[in-house]
Amino acid sequence: MFQVSEIVHFCYGHRLLDYVGKCARVHGHNGKVEIVAGGETLDHRGFVMDFSDLQAAAQAFIDERFDHRLLLRADDPLVPVLTAEGEAFVALDVNPSAENLARLIFEHLRGLGFPIVAVRFYETETSVAVYARPLETARP
Ligand SMILES: [Zn+2]
Repeated sequence: MFQVSEIVHFCYGHRLLDYVGKCARVHGHNGKVEIVAGGETLDHRGFVMDFSDLQAAAQAFIDERFDHRLLLRADDPLVPVLTAEGEAFVALDVNPSAENLARLIFEHLRGLGFPIVAVRFYETETSVAVYARPLETARP
């Protein structure tokens, strides 16, 4: 399989519920996401896909959804407090772990029709979560 990837850098805050450790506190990360698209064949240009199309779609989603935002699980006790204060945050159905954020980015871009095969989510330079799934062979 051919693969191409784009990298997006962004900043986010979060805290994890049901967890004991540093990420149980409200804090921030400088995140880096590598989005990998794949294909068994290339198009007439010799591309899996245009790098700039992948970059634009990934950047737009991450900017809008995660960049410089506080990511919380929807049942976090901070949600009503921040809502009452008129403070912005993003409430997710899942814990805002690197694994779950990788999957959300993956699913969004797949939903747009991009042939995404993996998202590598660097919570730090040394801690990476990967969500990967092969391409469906029978496309609608
Ligand atoms: Zn963290």
